Amino acid sequence: MNQFVIGIDIGGTNIKFGLVSKKGQIVSRLNLKTSSVGKNVSQLAEGLVSACLKLISENHLAKKQILGIGIGLPGLVNIKRSIVYSLTNIKGWKNVPFKKIIEKRIGISTFIDNDVNVVALAEWKYGAGKGVTDLICMTLGTGVGGGLILNNTLYRGAGFAAGEVGHIPINEKGKKCNCGGFACMETVVGNQYLEKKAKKVFNKENITLEQVTALADKGNKKAILFWEQTAEHIANGLIGTINTLNPSLVVVGGGVAKAHKYIFPVMRQVIKKRAMHIQGRMVKIKKVKLGQDAGIIGSQVLALEMLKIR
Ligand SMILES: [Zn+2]
Repeated sequence: MNQFVIGIDIGGTNIKFGLVSKKGQIVSRLNLKTSSVGKNVSQLAEGLVSACLKLISENHLAKKQILGIGIGLPGLVNIKRSIVYSLTNIKGWKNVPFKKIIEKRIGISTFIDNDVNVVALAEWKYGAGKGVTDLICMTLGTGVGGGLILNNTLYRGAGFAAGEVGHIPINEKGKKCNCGGFACMETVVGNQYLEKKAKKVFNKENITLEQVTALADKGNKKAILFWEQTAEHIANGLIGTINTLNPSLVVVGGGVAKAHKYIFPVMRQVIKKRAMHIQGRMVKIKKVKLGQDAGIIGSQVLALEMLKIR
């Protein structure tokens, strides 16, 4: 009997479902617009359950062939109690026992975690970090997220909020951050800041970060410098964590990572110069490998880890 996990990646725009084999292959997919499902708890639960049932029946499977359901959510999740404390940018979610809600409706073991944690799990098990025991996974976007794999385990911290490398302060003084702190790495490498900076640097109202990368590809010096400065901020932000944790890999994903050609070499230079000898020499910088599928695949890893199936 073939067995699968259903991996679910809940994003602000799309909800992606995948029927994933035990080896991490996505054998069937389903996509929903988040807006078509509705964002309150019962609407979302209903939408997820009917999509899962559809995926099962479309693939002519029996429910017992589904080992579990894994879900990556954009928010803070208490893994022990399986409660969603809050969702980023979605109001009305406070202390929601989402695991129980889904399990009650569908009768399949369900596991939930933060979306960036799930991406870290995916990259560690099947992606750029395959075979690596200790890594930092960071995603660069409007928010700068992070996940830590330490000693082959996802490190969640005492309050399940660990890994926030985007909120490492890189200065003693600086701009206020969305997290409530100030001078966080996110305030100088997050998309909002970078878009504003690009407008100023190129004196162009509608310039996108993709266009900055395209300019760099044509040899535009300002564009290359733009990404090199960004790389310096990222590296300076990460050095403390690299010195503390001695990971062998930093996996970088998200929109900005598309400019990796310009970002990675400078990151490596700065880290080599500033990090401690062993830590700086050991750590590699790589691009994420699983791209858009990381959320689905990582949710499979989450479910199998929780079910202790290795
Ligand atoms: Zn912050």
